[in-house]
Amino acid sequence: MKIVVVGAGLAGSVAARLLTDAGHRVEIFESRGHIGGNCYDAWQDGVMVHQYGPHCFHTDKPAVWEFVNRFTRFRETACAVVANTRLGQIPIPFNDISAEIAGDLSPEKIRDLLFVDYSEKHWGVPWAEIPRAITGRVPQRRVGRDCRYHLDQWQGVPVQGFTKMFEAMLEGIPVHLNSTEEEWRSAPADHIIFSGSIDDYFAKAMGVLEYRSLEFEYTLEAKREHFQINECNREKAWTRAVDHSHWLDQNVEQTVIGREFPCEWDGTNTRFYPKPFGGNPEKFQKYWEAAKAERGVTFLGRLATYKYLDMDDVVAQVMVKLGDKLMVES
Ligand code: UDP
Repeated sequence: MKIVVVGAGLAGSVAARLLTDAGHRVEIFESRGHIGGNCYDAWQDGVMVHQYGPHCFHTDKPAVWEFVNRFTRFRETACAVVANTRLGQIPIPFNDISAEIAGDLSPEKIRDLLFVDYSEKHWGVPWAEIPRAITGRVPQRRVGRDCRYHLDQWQGVPVQGFTKMFEAMLEGIPVHLNSTEEEWRSAPADHIIFSGSIDDYFAKAMGVLEYRSLEFEYTLEAKREHFQINECNREKAWTRAVDHSHWLDQNVEQTVIGREFPCEWDGTNTRFYPKPFGGNPEKFQKYWEAAKAERGVTFLGRLATYKYLDMDDVVAQVMVKLGDKLMVES
């Protein structure tokens, strides 16, 4: 079959690889000037910088881990995050070390200390409007002294960066960068894999799906002890600052610090986070009904399924959806 894949981010690239391996002819159309979507990284001032904020691959799914390891070796990284709070700088998730610094706080106090201000900055709405599905991503209280942000069995970053991993994944598959909607819509195809925002596929017929976006500020500063510092307060407008030299354990004096400033997606900047509130879930449901009725198209990834998926969830979603036999109906 001739298959057109729209988007060369994680969902599109995994789909393209699996379908190519299964014997299909695949062609990818990507609107940006690079592959890898928001996982894209590049050298900047001698440091490997994650261009769309920190991406640490973490999973407990053996099949997913096995799949990504086909394309790169991983450097194990203990992604330990600290938070600046009004009670000092403490590990997050809140653990026994945090308790020694800030006192052994109740779940409510931990929520007020670590989550309310950060989440309101990040999501741009009052705490009460943020669904538990989001705020529940980070555990409130962890017993013990393990400071890793995630506890998954496997975690790390590709030894040469994510972009190289994507290059290996897409080897031999034609990718059209900077391509337009007209190009993929007019390309001959027996089947389409769509990983863009689902409302774009349907020309916004049922309204615009909203997203949160981020602006990044990069500065050259002295290397830091901590890889990531979250600002769980209102004093700083940014949510987190990342020292990118930690990804590849670079021994540098001057590093690149990236600070994230949350903002709305305005149609011109990058989509980062689907907003599962404010009427968007209902709107998405209408698009999803339309998607189910659409023949010859498979919708995959964070934007097309409008879900806050981690990287391993995306890989798993593609693997499951395309199925063991990797046959797609036309
Ligand atoms: N969060 C928070 N304080 C923190 C870190 C996270 O309130 O210091 C909340 C916030 O609402 C955020 C969510 O937890 O959107 C998920 O955080 P995570 O670090 O998983 O975000 P991601 O890395 O996906 O941007």
